[in-house]
Amino acid sequence: MNKPAELKLATVPAWINGKALAPAGRTGEVFNPATGQVTKRVCFSDEKIIDAAVKAAAAAFAAWRDTPVLRRARVMQKFLQLLQANHSQLGKIVSEEHGKTLDDAMGSVQRGIEVVEFACGIPHLLKGEFAENVGTQVDTHTLRQPVGVCAGITPFNFPVMVPLWMFPMAIACGNSFILKPSEKVPSASIRMAELFKEAGLPDGVFNVVHGDKEAVDSILRHSGIHAVSFVGSTPIARYIYETCAKAGKRVQALGGAKNHAVVLPDADLEFAADALIGAAYGSAGERCMAISAVVAVGAAADPLVRLLEKKAKAIKLGVDMGPLVSAQHLAKVKGFIETGVAEGAKLVVDARKQDCPKQGFYLGTSLFDHVTPGMEVYRNEIFGPILVVLRTENLEQAIRLVNANPYANGTAIFTESGGAARRFAAEIQVGMVGVNVPIPVPVAFFSFGGWKNSLFGDLHVHGVESVKFYTRTKVVTSRWPHQDTPAPGLDMPTLG
Ligand code: NAD
Repeated sequence: MNKPAELKLATVPAWINGKALAPAGRTGEVFNPATGQVTKRVCFSDEKIIDAAVKAAAAAFAAWRDTPVLRRARVMQKFLQLLQANHSQLGKIVSEEHGKTLDDAMGSVQRGIEVVEFACGIPHLLKGEFAENVGTQVDTHTLRQPVGVCAGITPFNFPVMVPLWMFPMAIACGNSFILKPSEKVPSASIRMAELFKEAGLPDGVFNVVHGDKEAVDSILRHSGIHAVSFVGSTPIARYIYETCAKAGKRVQALGGAKNHAVVLPDADLEFAADALIGAAYGSAGERCMAISAVVAVGAAADPLVRLLEKKAKAIKLGVDMGPLVSAQHLAKVKGFIETGVAEGAKLVVDARKQDCPKQGFYLGTSLFDHVTPGMEVYRNEIFGPILVVLRTENLEQAIRLVNANPYANGTAIFTESGGAARRFAAEIQVGMVGVNVPIPVPVAFFSFGGWKNSLFGDLHVHGVESVKFYTRTKVVTSRWPHQDTPAPGLDMPTLG
């Protein structure tokens, strides 16, 4: 039986066919990480609810696909206006459920809104190619057609931005969509569904379901879903990729990261240290593009570590940096401080010695020096406010070290040398590279994605690659015969 306090909790429903749906059944707890309190319950979707979502999406697809692209673009424009008008509210929801500071949450919402801005240009993006007279009286043109019912499965760390990487482009391309956001941060997706409806999106084109592995597996099993976009940790990304590939679904699965920043001795070390502090500890290190490993080259190391130490100790918990997402994640990240000490890394800044709010899932900053590639604090994606420093003698060794890591999402180099930066960008085997830019997240009109264990699949998210992911190309070759058209024969036609 529910305790009285639980009865007062708001419920986060699913969103199917333009309506909120809160079925009886399994639920999950939604926390405010800053207080450690349960604030809501989220209704988990079982196989039947997922099937209802697929049916609604499939029923809406034909009319939406055939809606003139300019009209689809106008719905996107209205959605863009509504997102902008509700920017603060969405930022507040993100901050309350994820824990990142309000300013940081607002920034992440803005980066998501920029994908909708890009999606407003869909009429231009869907134009095909045409070649006249490719053979005698033969013309060829291409069509870009939507894939059908698409699904998106997203992580806890960007409750608005990562879903917006996916569904606006899919829907602008003429698909219908089912979003399964992280069960830890479910509310923002429902608010976005309400705003999309208000913008004029027909019911059923966008649906939201909730839950854990059970909901995800129902999505993967459903034969009515044709494409799956996933963002989350590497083991789950690999599982999603393999399961979808076996079932013949189109799939892009973005995984975890261990992002390195290489700092050369000629860099402006003060500037580099400021950049690294923001990139390592912003959002409490819970960003897939967070810098979690610094590779200090030669004489850069000692002065850089001194600067990082001073700046990491100055970060104010609850003001500059929020809590971690959950008590379980807090315990896991804290465990890495003990692991690093046990394996012989030098703990320069120790979160355990810092003042910490009594409530909530807060953890201060930690900095390890003299970390080596075999250590667990380097080998694992910690996803918390722990920065590790490795040392190399030269750029060549630094490049080799980064390239040996199985993750390859983002990386950055800090240097005053154009030649060194150019060599780094050319030789590094990582999907997104920054030169004196610590978190090189591409803007919405480029595409986002890593290499190796940070992305399973071929196409990255947003930008032009998302148009390719959410459409199929068809090539039409046509001939309109008249009197002097040569008759087709039995030989392989060359059309010349
Ligand atoms: P996660 O992999 O635990 O969860 C992601 C999604 O998968 C959630 O919707 C969750 O419900 C679902 N899921 C969890 N366990 C599952 C299972 N066993 N079977 C099927 N589905 C399952 O990731 P998270 O903890 O929510 O997010 C943090 C991770 O996401 C980090 O590894 C981070 O690097 C990664 N991330 C990557 C990117 C990127 O662009 N590459 C962006 C953001 C986050």
